[in-house]
Amino acid sequence: MNWEDNVRRVVPYVAGEQPKEQNVIKLNTNECPYPPAPGVAEVLHGFDCDILRKYPDPDVSLLVRALARRHGLTDRQVFVGVGSDDVLAMSFLTFFNSGKPILFPDITYSFYDVWAELYRIPYQCQPLDDSFRIRKEDYFRENGGIVIANPNAPTGVAVPLSELEEIVRTNLDSVVIIDEAYVDFGGESCVPLIEKYDNLLVVQTFSKSRSMAGMRIGYAMGNERMIGYLNDVKFSFNSYTMSAVSIAAGAASAADETYFRDTVAKVVATRERVRGELDKLGFICTDAKTNFLFVSHRTIPAREIFEALKAEKIYVRFWDKPRISNCLRISIGTDEEMDRVLAFLEAYTGGRKDETHL
Ligand code: PMP
Repeated sequence: MNWEDNVRRVVPYVAGEQPKEQNVIKLNTNECPYPPAPGVAEVLHGFDCDILRKYPDPDVSLLVRALARRHGLTDRQVFVGVGSDDVLAMSFLTFFNSGKPILFPDITYSFYDVWAELYRIPYQCQPLDDSFRIRKEDYFRENGGIVIANPNAPTGVAVPLSELEEIVRTNLDSVVIIDEAYVDFGGESCVPLIEKYDNLLVVQTFSKSRSMAGMRIGYAMGNERMIGYLNDVKFSFNSYTMSAVSIAAGAASAADETYFRDTVAKVVATRERVRGELDKLGFICTDAKTNFLFVSHRTIPAREIFEALKAEKIYVRFWDKPRISNCLRISIGTDEEMDRVLAFLEAYTGGRKDETHL
């Protein structure tokens, strides 16, 4: 017997690369290319560092209140954490304890199986159909919980609200988590269903549509009892998850709805333009409702395009995994960045548009 026999062994999640070199076009982790709301810079510039002597507010009240107001909820229906990864991990720990397998799609955010493994939660992956759509019937079976990203990552495909409602309604005995990391770019949010179903938890993030991946803010919305259970687990783990700086900066962002809408509209407009241009270059794109496109080329293998882009210091995401190994996920950057990507791809793909490679 040795101590290593008792280690909680896990295979960690692999995040997209954060390149250290200069002058790269970074389209591999779905960050927003525009800055956070101007109020965030004001808060940071005027921040009174004396505040840092003290522990931050463990209830994160300022930010919870700003988010509750924005979504038309009570403060007790909102839980804030260190990015939605923290909120999701905390939710798995809080709600998925039945011993029955939790369900999520076979192609989805690749952290779900990592948390399930970490907490020893059994899970079953439900295959998406050939158009990367979920089949709602797959979720009408006994389970210990359900987690669905809507829109999904990395495919970008959105599930209609009516189908998600059917899934929530058919599973009143287990918690259904809807991960809405990308919902602001064109999906339909489940937040209005919270009043109707006490088994629904909706998770959102400041990392994409609020341009604040570096600040690490995510939040969950659900009925008061559910949020109470999440808080009990959080306070049994680490009371002070949110720094005073994150709380102040997050509240400033949440207060600026106009800037938020303008930023999202710019990203969506660029996405639609790029989709049209990629189509002309022989790419097939899913109907992504996200701040990224999920594409494959009719003739050129994804890995080759990935390597060629990387040699040009253009970083996109490629997974050597079943069903998606001929696909690339390309985050939407500024128009200038996307024009450089398109110019490169036009030269690179020239003349190779016809045969089907999928
Ligand atoms: N959910 C999905 C589907 C994601 O793609 C991401 C981003 N990697 C997250 C959650 C986590 O984002 P964050 O922790 O930055 O809020």
